[in-house]
Amino acid sequence: MAIQDKAYIDGRWVAGNLGCFDVDDPASGDIVARVANVDLDQVEAAIDAASNAFEPWRLQPAQARCDRLMAWQLLLLAQQSRLAELITLESGKPMSESLAEVVYGASYLKWFAEQGVRAYGHTLPALPGGRRPMTIKQPVGVVAIITPWNFPLAMIARKVAPALAAGCCVVIKPAAETPLTALALVALAEQAGFPAGCINVVPGIDAAAIGQRLCASPRIRKLSFTGSTAVGRILMAQSAAHIQKVSLELGGNAPFIVFDDADLDLAVDGLLAAKFRNSGQTCVAANRILVQQGVYQAFVSKLREKVLALKVGPGAIDGNNIGPLISQVAHRRVSRLVEQALSAGATCSAVGTDLPGRFYPPTLLESIRPSNPIWQQEIFGPVLAVTGFDTEEEAVRLANSTEAGLASYLYSDNVRRVMRVAESLQFGMVGVNEGIISTAVAPFGGIKSSGLGREGGQEGLDDYLETKYLCFGS
Ligand code: ADP
Repeated sequence: MAIQDKAYIDGRWVAGNLGCFDVDDPASGDIVARVANVDLDQVEAAIDAASNAFEPWRLQPAQARCDRLMAWQLLLLAQQSRLAELITLESGKPMSESLAEVVYGASYLKWFAEQGVRAYGHTLPALPGGRRPMTIKQPVGVVAIITPWNFPLAMIARKVAPALAAGCCVVIKPAAETPLTALALVALAEQAGFPAGCINVVPGIDAAAIGQRLCASPRIRKLSFTGSTAVGRILMAQSAAHIQKVSLELGGNAPFIVFDDADLDLAVDGLLAAKFRNSGQTCVAANRILVQQGVYQAFVSKLREKVLALKVGPGAIDGNNIGPLISQVAHRRVSRLVEQALSAGATCSAVGTDLPGRFYPPTLLESIRPSNPIWQQEIFGPVLAVTGFDTEEEAVRLANSTEAGLASYLYSDNVRRVMRVAESLQFGMVGVNEGIISTAVAPFGGIKSSGLGREGGQEGLDDYLETKYLCFGS
């Protein structure tokens, strides 16, 4: 599979009207590709293509649409090493994680291929006078999809699969840091036989202008976005012009609570998985670690040992678990956050291998007060911020004192406590004695400022469907 560097509009691979932009390898900083930089006419052409393709696509039998998705996921699995190499090349994550991302992404294509044939409406009991009400499910229309760089394949698969299964057509704007995986993914969709115009990709450097154009079009009926809360707010405001539906998967600030009655080894392993995947650059990463005083010292000493054993280095080299951060800007941001944390009274009890470039050493910080900036922001780096607590009430209060409401984690072997705390946590997802929670079969999403809508599960398809009510006279 050659590297695909063109935009994909109406079934054709086209050069960017604004030339190209560079994509680099975060591990070395080397430029690895120059990708088509689309202008707004090309964005409009992609909207035209998707709009024209929509009617025939939605009228296909659901099974025919789902067959295409099934064929696509098989191609992904057949090409998993090549796709994983691309993910590592442009995002920096370790190969083992890239391979897992391909399999995870493919699982959404399969899940929605299976769900798409079950977009059931209802027949309702007859009304007085004999009228018969009924509902049918119909696709919302053309969907704009804007995705981040941290899961360059999976974030697209999670949105495109339910959209296509429902009968929608899509215009995808991938992150400028990681367009190669998106283009490779769509090249496989072309092989799987999706009709021209069904799936369009518009890579570009001017995300704000592209986003504005997508929101300004009354033909775009839904916007599905994963990324920062700041950009989510902008897009939500822009979508008001035509009352586009929005699904927003925004930033988190996940609490990770370890109670006195937890299995500590399980908790340490869960924390490593929840924190260090993609060098901490995930929206469900454990951000605020709360450990009950009775097990605090034992937990932290086990944790310190494991943090120091993490292998930092290029993701392409076997055995490395911590790759580089995505950019120098990200590196500066994490460095500043740690400096601020230390000057606000935190103590540093472990620092792993420190390599030059965009690599940030795995770091363990303790004595974090709730007013510390590192407690209030998404760290998005391999830094653990740990604090102790005394009571269950205190843990829940601290955990909930954030605007974010995406993932949360709790470790305890007391089933009554688990139920109480899980029900009290104001988050869309709760990992109970588990650090990796995301799966195609369950609804992923946040509450409060972490977003709107759910991806995966039964709910994932609904976000791309309208319910139409039909009333039959007697
Ligand atoms: P991150 O911090 O993960 O890069 P962003 O929210 O900045 O999060 O980016 C997520 C996606 O949103 C990327 O595809 C990016 O290009 C795009 N994006 C950034 N700013 C805007 C904007 N103003 N309007 C539309 N899309 C944007």
